[in-house]
Amino acid sequence: MAPITRRDFVKQTAFTAATLCGCPIDSLAETRRRFRTREQTAAMVDSAAIRKLASQITGHVITTDARDYEEARLIFNRAFDLRPALIVRCLGGSDVARTLDFTQKHTLPLSVRGGGHSRLGYGMCDGGVVIDLSGMNRVEVDARKRVARAGAGALVRDLDVATQRFGLATTSGGCPTVGIAGLTLGGGEGKLMGKYGAACDNLISAQLVTLDGRQVEASQESDPDLFWAIRGGGGNFGVVTALEYQLHPVTDVLAGTLMYPAGRIPQLLQAFVKFVAAEPDEMDVLAQLLPSERGPRCRMDVCFCGDPRIGNDFLRPLRALKPQEDNVKVASYLTVQSAGGFLQAPVAHFQTDLFLPELSDGAIAAITAAINDAPLRGKVIVVPLRGAISRVASSDMAFALRQPGYEVDVASVWSDPAGKASAVQWVKALRDKLQPLASGVYANQLGETSEALVRAAYGPNYARLAEIKKKYDPNNVLHLNQNIKPD
Ligand SMILES: Cc1cc2nc3c(=O)[nH]c(=O)nc-3n(C[C@H](O)[C@H](O)[C@H](O)COP(=O)(O)OP(=O)(O)OC[C@H]3O[C@@H](n4cnc5c(N)ncnc54)[C@H](O)[C@@H]3O)c2cc1C
Repeated sequence: MAPITRRDFVKQTAFTAATLCGCPIDSLAETRRRFRTREQTAAMVDSAAIRKLASQITGHVITTDARDYEEARLIFNRAFDLRPALIVRCLGGSDVARTLDFTQKHTLPLSVRGGGHSRLGYGMCDGGVVIDLSGMNRVEVDARKRVARAGAGALVRDLDVATQRFGLATTSGGCPTVGIAGLTLGGGEGKLMGKYGAACDNLISAQLVTLDGRQVEASQESDPDLFWAIRGGGGNFGVVTALEYQLHPVTDVLAGTLMYPAGRIPQLLQAFVKFVAAEPDEMDVLAQLLPSERGPRCRMDVCFCGDPRIGNDFLRPLRALKPQEDNVKVASYLTVQSAGGFLQAPVAHFQTDLFLPELSDGAIAAITAAINDAPLRGKVIVVPLRGAISRVASSDMAFALRQPGYEVDVASVWSDPAGKASAVQWVKALRDKLQPLASGVYANQLGETSEALVRAAYGPNYARLAEIKKKYDPNNVLHLNQNIKPD
């Protein structure tokens, strides 16, 4: 088979973009498969070139015949079964630079894998190269300065464990195995966001390798434009190798779940809206709507990072709604973070996300109708955005979801491929109902993509992001992400 030329590559990219605009999730893996087959890749990269790359790096190269290949290619969302030609386990900036050079010389598709939790499986690709940062997971804490410096392969639990040793923390995600790089580059929402802002709000600086192989620092002082872009704009601008975070004193929190008996969904959501309107920055409560054999149930996940007596006082209105189970108690923040959230283990799923400025009666009615009709493994999660995260101006950095409101995540899971179509259809039906009420999306929680969705995620920030993309990645080599186009 003849090698693929740069022109074919560009044509394929255009095809991919066109297909992905509003394309159904079902066709996504297929689209990537078409993008480049393994046979095509093998024709383009001879084994001598791969051996040379392996000899130039301190990490190691995993080829399709390696014993650890099958494990190395696994990602969290098992809806994606992708087979890259090479997985390069990098151990530093120069490994990343050499791999970037190799990938571009061979015009191969490129994925960057942090924690592998992309809803769209972007940490892996078919027939291309994966820069796998999992070996770069060291976290160092300067307790005096309240700063953590983490390798870009660190997971939420690595960051939490390291910082909690000193009674410190920063906003990180609700799932311990999410990668902090993917989380922070896309925004980063978690239990501390009302008090301390998003993960990206706590980023002091990042080390990046740019597409031309330079190792640079992005911070307010050293490169304010790039720093602005990577705080929300995802992995569009270079490969981040380390991140430096501002930490805060966080030890015990008042946390747990309130599970309500089946039914009463509209009343519970209305009470939730009232509660959220009055809650202090320390309070983080999200509502999960879950189908059950006895009818839909509402569970509220609570975390209060202030004085527990004050937290218990604030919780009175939610307790007055008579939860059937109430395990909200004082626990260490690390224990609470380790419990994880909705998806505890890798599984095939489809999730989408909408931002609603209000949880109106219309939205509550649509959610209630959908959850009454949900597949047993469907779920709606309503995440209020308030407090510190919503006090940053949306033009201050790329992450633009700054208006107070509610993120609604709609997700469904399947183990048998036969269940996929109905699971996906249920999610999309509710998405379509809520769409007219939405004013944005959170890029990190989107299991679908299109140019319109990416523009919706960044709003007025999109034009500046496209300019910065043009400067740092004019050929859109880093396109396996919620993609900002360089033109
Ligand atoms: C179970 C689960 C729970 C979640 N919970 C939360 C939550 O509580 N809060 C929240 O805000 N989000 C949450 N998310 C969404 C999560 O933030 C995103 O999926 C995030 O992109 C995952 O990052 P990752 O490094 O694990 O994923 P990956 O798949 O490795 O990467 C995701 C994207 O980031 C890019 N990327 C990763 N690392 C780098 C790097 N070093 N340099 C350049 N680009 C990079 C990748 O190329 C890819 O496009 C959750 C996702 C899952 C699956």
